[in-house]
Amino acid sequence: MAVNKKLMPETKIDIKLEDTYGQLPAAMYSRVMPTKVKAPALVLFNHKLAAELGLPAHEAALAAWEQILAGNAVPEGWQPLAMAYQGHQFGYPNMLGDGRALLLGELLKLDGQRVDIQLKGAGLTPYSRRGDGRAALGSMLREYLYSEALHGLGIPTTRSLAVVATGQPVFREKMEAGAVLTRIAASHIRVGTFEYAVNNLSLAEYQQFLQYTIKRHYPALTDAPAEGQALAFLQAVMERQASLVAQWMGVGFIHGVMNTDNMSIAGQTIDYGPCAFMNTYHPNTVFSSIDTGGRYAYGQQPGIAHWNLAVLAGTLLPLIHENEEQATVKAQETLQEFPRMYLQAWMQVMRNKLGLAERQQDDKALVIDLLDWMQANAADYTNTFVHLQLTELPLLPAYQQDDFKLWYQRWRQRTEEQPGGIAAARKIMQQHNPQYIARNYLVEEALQQATELADLKPLMQLLDILSQPYQQQAVADKYTQPPTGGDAGYKTFCNT
Ligand code: AMP
Ligand code: MG
Repeated sequence: MAVNKKLMPETKIDIKLEDTYGQLPAAMYSRVMPTKVKAPALVLFNHKLAAELGLPAHEAALAAWEQILAGNAVPEGWQPLAMAYQGHQFGYPNMLGDGRALLLGELLKLDGQRVDIQLKGAGLTPYSRRGDGRAALGSMLREYLYSEALHGLGIPTTRSLAVVATGQPVFREKMEAGAVLTRIAASHIRVGTFEYAVNNLSLAEYQQFLQYTIKRHYPALTDAPAEGQALAFLQAVMERQASLVAQWMGVGFIHGVMNTDNMSIAGQTIDYGPCAFMNTYHPNTVFSSIDTGGRYAYGQQPGIAHWNLAVLAGTLLPLIHENEEQATVKAQETLQEFPRMYLQAWMQVMRNKLGLAERQQDDKALVIDLLDWMQANAADYTNTFVHLQLTELPLLPAYQQDDFKLWYQRWRQRTEEQPGGIAAARKIMQQHNPQYIARNYLVEEALQQATELADLKPLMQLLDILSQPYQQQAVADKYTQPPTGGDAGYKTFCNT
């Protein structure tokens, strides 16, 4: 017989959360309590992450979490807040803020790192605008799946601790089940938070906000000389973004909505909306239904990162130099470095994917020629790199073409020139080329089963496989197969 939770003695979650963000100038946030929901039901709980965070996860604790992570209970001492921010959405500035998210507080991890615990979908806030403050179960499961998939790939990302169904419907295109996602992030400071801060704080307060951010995410810059510190900060954020986007490009990840409010200052992937993985290689690949102009297409991502960083640079001008013209010149000089930074990060990613241990002059041409060939032949991005690791290529017609054979020879020759030859190359490749990605049709199937049939098995299996994407696993073929007929017509939705 199942335990009747109502009869069990209540377990208190006795965890202290800190509130350093709440010590910032009052304009930066609003204190808001979550709005209670009808019938909380824990759908997913990330036990591994809980252990990493030092959070209890035994049965009685889970019953308590179910209440807390639905927003129905707030442990003593926790002081939730909604963060204020602006953002450029598809190039246009807007006042945004946590319209449905609440920061429960900051947890100091066992390793001393500070992380935000945030509820997404916890009810109305002063920043909700026309929204309902809620989230749909399907979208929250989707964020859980993709964020954990990126984590599995070793790419910096926010994490997902839990999804709790609310027992209340939300109205989107159609009626859907509601849910609250618990998100763990290095912080929720975005490029858009700086846009808001520079417009709403005094210069002294703004300087204080920069110091807060530096201390939290770039502590090495704490002691940098005041003059030059803001520029050094800009450069450090640029480096993290260059590295992040290069890693996305390496696995074919398309964020889908790289608005400035969806770009984390800490350099983590954040805000999983219409994201997806590319199957067939093409730089113009875009799945988001609202991105009709392809602003956030796969191949646009490095350029958009640069654009967003230019917005960040603009917000930092008053801290870079009191003379705006001089500040602009300095900011420009720093920003100009981005293409070079990105190219370096991306070439490192691509060298690893091809098993090249050391740099050579013509590496870039080798990479570009392969990508061009993939594009011309509509090759599957992930599987092409997996195939290159094999002693013998599979008997696909595309691999029989002369232009491919020539490229293959060039690459093999190149691997032979390095210590350990092809064997060493394969070792590197195995660590950098995923066998498994969150293929769109598998994701849709798993989410459909979960939301329409309350069957979590396909989702759990996908999560399990994607937690070790570089390991070959004894699983059904479909997990490595591109969709039949490609991704023609596949669309993703923000579905907020
Ligand atoms: P996103 O597209 O998720 O990055 O959200 C953009 C902005 O819209 C943020 O300020 C969100 O808080 C807000 N937002 C999204 N969905 C909702 C909703 N259902 N209710 C209130 N605000 C929302
Ligand atoms: Mg967002």
